[in-house]
Amino acid sequence: MDFRDLKQQYLVLKSEIDQAMLDVAASGSFIQGRPVGQLEQQLAAYAGRKYCIACANGTEAMTMVLKYWNIGPGDAVFVPDFTFFATAEVVCLEGATPVLVNVDPATFNLDPASLRQEIERIAREGRLKPRLIIPVDLFGLPADFLQISEIAREFGLLVLEDGAQGFGGAIGSLPACSFGNASTTSFFPAKPLGCYGDGGAIFTDDPEMVKFLRSYQVHGKGAEKYDNVRIGCNSRLDTLQAAILLVKFKAFQASELAAVQSAAAFYTRLLSDIVLTPVTPSGFSSSWAQYTIRLASSAQRDRLKSFLARQNIPSMIYYPRALHEQTALVSLADYEPHRLAKTSLLAQTVLSLPMHPYLQEEEITMVSEAVKDFILKEE
Ligand SMILES: *Cc1c(COP(=O)(O)O)cnc(C)c1O
Repeated sequence: MDFRDLKQQYLVLKSEIDQAMLDVAASGSFIQGRPVGQLEQQLAAYAGRKYCIACANGTEAMTMVLKYWNIGPGDAVFVPDFTFFATAEVVCLEGATPVLVNVDPATFNLDPASLRQEIERIAREGRLKPRLIIPVDLFGLPADFLQISEIAREFGLLVLEDGAQGFGGAIGSLPACSFGNASTTSFFPAKPLGCYGDGGAIFTDDPEMVKFLRSYQVHGKGAEKYDNVRIGCNSRLDTLQAAILLVKFKAFQASELAAVQSAAAFYTRLLSDIVLTPVTPSGFSSSWAQYTIRLASSAQRDRLKSFLARQNIPSMIYYPRALHEQTALVSLADYEPHRLAKTSLLAQTVLSLPMHPYLQEEEITMVSEAVKDFILKEE
């Protein structure tokens, strides 16, 4: 059993993916070929945004948006304390300060009440200027954008949805990557919609942002390529990756999203009486980048991980450390460790189980039975 079976997915889609790759090779159009524009149009339509700009990866997608908004030294950017490192890294890279905020342990997402507290604290202290909130759609579940947008309006802050893991999720009829002033996603292979290498995208309704990004991502080009009007970077999605994504996006919509959602429901049915299973608030839907349970203690989590490994069942710890426990952030982030005890506890007790669209019911049953055996044996 694989934790996320990308080989099985390839076998299912092989003829179409092979043809798509061969077509790009034959076209000779490896950079900004037609599939890139086609993909951007399809993804924008799916996310309900006016524009989608494909780029090199999810981290640069965020960085470029921060550049457009001139986020820099003296700015406070509110980031959940429990997320992949990149969410805070991009803030530090601009010289701004990530302010680490508690998450709700049931959903793993930014806790609106803690967010309000931290914004008020930063405003009161007056050292940093509150500018931006970066809620993360962790493990596929959209953050609570209804409450977060309200808070952002009240304090006059920008919102960037880090939808790297969120593509395909929704709140009611509103899809992930439609929230905030801009959203970003990642096509890293293991994300809900992944390519065969690195890739990412930015979603926005702001035509001025699009003008900036189209220039910035190609060395700050002006009207033509060798007229450089600003210092930029090189951040494009390869034509080859776009062509692969066009095939995978079709499968994502036709069956894969529904398949992970029913796999998650099946896990929850088998496991909810035994361990803490992930909570999807009413009206929300997840694209299940991860299916993550919580154990009673760090020691129990580690024992379960080994127990599963002995039965050849892979599991992963996302994430073994809260951001405030990362060496790199000790001096760069603004936080009070005692306020973030909840996220430390999460990092000690979470365990993600195998999850992907091609996981069989028998496999889910086997994993769940193993978890059950372990818990009963411990009692
Ligand atoms: C993966 C990820 C990113 C970064 O995406 P890359 O494409 O790997 O650069 C950012 N934020 C979160 C929450 C992620 O999971």
